[in-house]
Amino acid sequence: MGLKMKKSIKIIATVLPLFFSGIISYAQLIYKSDQFDRVIEEKKGDVQILEGLSKEQLNIFKPHITSYFKTLEYNYKDSLYLFSTEINKKVQDIAESIYNANQDRFTQKPFFILSTSDQPNAFCDFNGIMVVNTGLIELVDDEHQLAFVIAHELAHFILKHAETSMSKALGVLGSSEFKGKIKEIKRMEYNKVKKFENLMKDLAIKTSSHSRELESDADALAVELLKNTRFNLSKAIKVMEVLEEVDWFYENVQYNLSALYGTSEFPLDNIFLTDPDKGFSFFQQQTEKEKKLQDSLHTHPDCAERYKTLQGSISNDSKTSNEDELFSNIKELSADITLKRLLKKRALAYSYSRILYLEKNQNWAKEYQVYKANIFNQFSEAQKKHRLNSLCPKKSPNMPEAFKEFVVFIHNQSVKDFAKHALVHILNTPIELLSKELADDIKQAFEVCEDEALKIKVASHYKRKFLDFNF
Ligand SMILES: [Zn+2]
Repeated sequence: MGLKMKKSIKIIATVLPLFFSGIISYAQLIYKSDQFDRVIEEKKGDVQILEGLSKEQLNIFKPHITSYFKTLEYNYKDSLYLFSTEINKKVQDIAESIYNANQDRFTQKPFFILSTSDQPNAFCDFNGIMVVNTGLIELVDDEHQLAFVIAHELAHFILKHAETSMSKALGVLGSSEFKGKIKEIKRMEYNKVKKFENLMKDLAIKTSSHSRELESDADALAVELLKNTRFNLSKAIKVMEVLEEVDWFYENVQYNLSALYGTSEFPLDNIFLTDPDKGFSFFQQQTEKEKKLQDSLHTHPDCAERYKTLQGSISNDSKTSNEDELFSNIKELSADITLKRLLKKRALAYSYSRILYLEKNQNWAKEYQVYKANIFNQFSEAQKKHRLNSLCPKKSPNMPEAFKEFVVFIHNQSVKDFAKHALVHILNTPIELLSKELADDIKQAFEVCEDEALKIKVASHYKRKFLDFNF
């Protein structure tokens, strides 16, 4: 064990600096795997959850299953999934530790997929396909917390919760009350769509209150699954506290705007924060009832409550693990991969807000200054071509309040302002973190920025590392 671990520490230690200096780029990571193709084909041909359903029931559920597999395949083709990294190995190792200690509970061995999605989430489907997002891994504090999430998802699989939810949904859909309501809506002349949507929302709320029971069952089994493993239960269940604060990126944006731009060099003009068409915002017309509805459908309900229940169910665990230091590298790598994917998708404002959050909370994130300069140059280009709104939509559904202010801020910047932001970020980058790739960003910003004093400062800062840099 000791020897094996030393070896993997060494691999990570060599991979990480390469990763950050841009030698391993996002494009060079591995997105294809023969095993994935084979497993998905196999699972598609053997959907046990559909066995024993009537023809009418199959008509309802088969399309869902088909579109579920289509989504997996689409994501795979779109390079959302990642293979063969140190993160894959870690997730596999944690999952296998749990599986090996509890083999008798499983009817088949689960198949693990690492997704580069930014959503702090993981799930295990009815067929034993489990997806873990890098957006979750970057958030958890240690491998014990990640182990809890994985164990919880495996518990859903073992307890056949997909089947339970399906038969409950069948019950509601097949009830005379539901059928009657559908008939009623069909007879209506107006507002059919709206009425139908409301009926479906109602159904979602009913099903989510069912699923709360299932959640606590899965939590309880997760604790059992972890008992015979190396993971520390007291540490593991703390993941609930982490998930409770899931909106952090956005809140941080609001906090940081004045800290970032309220300096003498870069005064934060209040005019930047005023939305000229505020009065027409669709989102402000939301009723209290609609807001409540959204809350009750929140992805991670009752985390704080679940944490308390879990705390009561375990005794203080004093197991120690020497993998914690190793895990901080996995977190870092996950955050970088998630961010690179968002940048590739040009989710720029969101990427920027993540960077601000990471900089505030993780000391390694100081390396992200270089991304910020690039983001502002991309905004500048878009503003010049009057395409800022497609790159950073002013209005989109469910945009959090804190993030709206930031988007307004972005929209109030001129092409020159963006160039200035880019240059200030380069000036703030510690000399040892300056990279050759920044030269293009500097040149691009120099063409637009009119602040000659700032340009001289940036040039001499960059030349301290790259003597041969020409303007
Ligand atoms: Zn769950």
